[in-house]
Amino acid sequence: MKTVFAKLLLISLCVVGSGFSQETGQSYIEFEKARFLKTSENNNAKYLGDSSFDVGYYKLDLNISYSPQSLSGIVTVSARSLGDILTSVFLDLSDALSVDSVLSNNLSCQYSHSENKLIISLDKPYSPDEIFTLTIFYHGVPVTTGLRSFVFDSHNEQPSIWTLSEPYGASDWWPCKDTPEDKVDSSDVWITVPDNLIAVSNGTLTDEIDNGNGTKTYKWKNSYPIANYLISLAISNYSVYKNYFRYSNNDSMLVIHYIYPEDLDELKPQLDKTTEMLELFSDLFSEYPFIKEKYGHAQFGSGGMEHQTITSIGIFTDGVIAHELTHQWFGDKITCRNWENIWLNEGFATYGEGLYYEFSEDKSAYNSFLSYHINRSKAAVGSIYVEDVSSISEIFNGNRSYSKGAIVLHMLRGIVGDSVFFNILKNYLNDPFLAYRTATTEDFERVAEETSGLQLNYFFNQWIYGKNYPKYNLEWDFQQAADNMYDVNINIEQSVNTYPQFFTMPVKIKISTSVGDTILSLFNDAQNQKSSFRISGKPTQLTFDPNNFILKDLIISDPAVLLPQLNLEQNYPNPFNNSTVIGYTLPQEDFVTLKVYNSLGQQIATLFNENGRAGEYKINFDGSSFSSGIYFYRLAFGKRIITKKMLLLK
Ligand SMILES: [Zn+2]
Repeated sequence: MKTVFAKLLLISLCVVGSGFSQETGQSYIEFEKARFLKTSENNNAKYLGDSSFDVGYYKLDLNISYSPQSLSGIVTVSARSLGDILTSVFLDLSDALSVDSVLSNNLSCQYSHSENKLIISLDKPYSPDEIFTLTIFYHGVPVTTGLRSFVFDSHNEQPSIWTLSEPYGASDWWPCKDTPEDKVDSSDVWITVPDNLIAVSNGTLTDEIDNGNGTKTYKWKNSYPIANYLISLAISNYSVYKNYFRYSNNDSMLVIHYIYPEDLDELKPQLDKTTEMLELFSDLFSEYPFIKEKYGHAQFGSGGMEHQTITSIGIFTDGVIAHELTHQWFGDKITCRNWENIWLNEGFATYGEGLYYEFSEDKSAYNSFLSYHINRSKAAVGSIYVEDVSSISEIFNGNRSYSKGAIVLHMLRGIVGDSVFFNILKNYLNDPFLAYRTATTEDFERVAEETSGLQLNYFFNQWIYGKNYPKYNLEWDFQQAADNMYDVNINIEQSVNTYPQFFTMPVKIKISTSVGDTILSLFNDAQNQKSSFRISGKPTQLTFDPNNFILKDLIISDPAVLLPQLNLEQNYPNPFNNSTVIGYTLPQEDFVTLKVYNSLGQQIATLFNENGRAGEYKINFDGSSFSSGIYFYRLAFGKRIITKKMLLLK
């Protein structure tokens, strides 16, 4: 048995190398989107689209051929004028595609197409709030950019055609206002493909038409608000696997999976978990946002992408399935208003994975999840708020947007407590200004403050816009104040950070005493802060942030009175017949010898002769080969020597 004390107790929140690789956070960060980043460093500058009009509806009527690869389309855009007198507008559309004609309110109109902008002269001047419709006829072979916006792919020698538009790639394959800020109220996607393929998109399949010419047309209708980057297509020779999510006694929703035929049998057990996750997240967050339509998966290249009502997915781990499903609430129902605030999508979806582990598996999976993301959060460089949205790898930075974003939610939960935390999530999702719309950090902060009654500006300011994390150096001691009352003095010092200079956080401190534990609360809002508390019972240990809510490094210096002293115990039993136990305590690490001598001073045994670490030790002395009499045992530790006497009686 060995107990180890140390003068400086270095507590690190995280378990380094905990091996959190069980189909977890690691999997989706490596594979969700970041996997595609190799192709992505070409990207658009910060760009918000034409702000002179508000789009209300998109219809994509696409005809897609795999061999030869081609796309032709008719895209209809309904919009409302925001300008004074609007005479021309622009849409975003890749120069790789050719525009054949443009109609403005069904009248042929002038347009020009260059530098990935389609500038359209409207059929007449439009006053504020007037509605107009644009129809764009175009064709070409899309050139993929970013996270691979449009891909003619294959599996098992079969076609697989898919899209992943986030963040700037929708305009690689259809004309649109390429910004998450302008969500439309509804959308239609009609896809004509060779009749051996199935074409999948958002919302409900309203019609499947055999055109009698070797092609089929799939008509998908989405009746909910949607951001342009969440409009998707996925086309292959899919096998279809259906489940149902029963969300009340009388109602159920279709859960449908479009899977490559060769993979379906193997994937069914994983796919079946989707309905149980829908139940959990509906409880924790509020009703699934697209309950009148469906949820589903369409298999594609790799990773995952939370297309509205139909996640594109290539890795079917618990983590990725939970992550993309969480996005239906956080990302799809409420969309980050701009890419600077991507943590409102990715931090929340990452935390959703953790919630699945917490509520469905044993606590250790959740703790591993936290350790993994705490490690990554500590490695994060820069603020969670994305300063350079021209770089896709900055937007989808795993350490910041995903891991640290999730840990910020974990910390918020620590501050407000479980029930308030989940009320914040529900109130956010159902806020009339945010539900089915877009949000920024300030919107989430407002809801968190309204729900908790707490002022939380310091929290979001330092964790979302600030960098790094607090590094605490804590010293404490205590004095007896009365009978069994003690004054505990705590000094918390933070290393100086760039911004914020130090972190303001409410902290809990547990003092273990001879009569039980006392939890102290203090609001740490200074670089160097001293506090005193009177408690009952003699303190034996201090634990800072006992539930590990704060992302931090921590060094605690315990009071000298609690540190172990060098000690050599009397052997037991004594006198002894043949065998006895000798105990000793080392206050710190040093070279140690423990030797036994006879009454003539001759050394007869060496029990320990090497470096010893701080702690308590018990060691056995076997005297069976020696005769009865007095013996001495001697502990040498550094320059200090302690000797004791023992009696062997046979
Ligand atoms: Zn995600």
